[in-house]
Amino acid sequence: MSVSFHLCQPGRGASCGACCGLYNFRDHSRATLTERLGAQTDTFAPLPREPEAYGAAARALKEARTPPLFPAVRVCPLLGFLDAERTRVGCLGHPKVTGGVDLRDCGVYRADICETFTCPSFTWLSDGQARLVQAACADWYLYGLVITDVEFVRGCLRLLEWERAGPVDPEALLARPESLEAMRRLLALKETAPGRGTHAAVFGRFTPDTEGEPISRTLDYAALGARAAPEDEVVLCLGYAPTSLEELTRARELVRTHVRAVAATLPS
Ligand code: SF4
Ligand code: SF4
Repeated sequence: MSVSFHLCQPGRGASCGACCGLYNFRDHSRATLTERLGAQTDTFAPLPREPEAYGAAARALKEARTPPLFPAVRVCPLLGFLDAERTRVGCLGHPKVTGGVDLRDCGVYRADICETFTCPSFTWLSDGQARLVQAACADWYLYGLVITDVEFVRGCLRLLEWERAGPVDPEALLARPESLEAMRRLLALKETAPGRGTHAAVFGRFTPDTEGEPISRTLDYAALGARAAPEDEVVLCLGYAPTSLEELTRARELVRTHVRAVAATLPS
């Protein structure tokens, strides 16, 4: 592992439930997911901490839910808010949450799989990159979107290095409040980038294949009448599926502007 802390529940406002299927819906907006997590939390809260009760509630939630964007990727109804303020997402069947009994077998995986799973970000992000995401995206919705998208994080930092014509140490961004704030605005494009449309079956860089598995998307440069540009990796990770050169140009410009804003906060 290259990351020195546990990415799932690192604290300081950050928490993640991406591998439990949190974002696996065509509408994965903050408002919709907040509502879903709230409903799941409210469903399990009054129940006796027993497999029968949790299993029945999990089945009912599963039957009633919206179809997932990637049918091959499971969505667990045991995901919810862990705190009264509803700022931390996590597993409602975990022994630390139930007060001792392990009810994760009532979810969509076996409890031992939930216990031991680590996503690729544990290996592929550097410690500095992961700490930068934790500090810049200190809320459950944005943190989960960004910490699981290694290509997006690396792509943003690579653009910053091109802009600066030299290496950029994540520590330098962490050390300067104004850099961290500009970095947050760049990474928060995952949530705020306008004009992405809601019609496409797209999650960041991915779209479902015929089996319902996520496959990586590319830009059709010939159809767009465009050449590849350094911003395109990030444009794809943001979920843009441009159908015209004008749309692609606007998306690239948005990324470039935000990268330049981060670069401007660093000493020359
Ligand atoms: S997607 Fe990764 S960081 Fe998020 S909860 Fe799963 S293992 Fe943890
Ligand atoms: S039971 Fe497993 S898959 Fe379901 S929310 Fe808990 S950790 Fe995630």
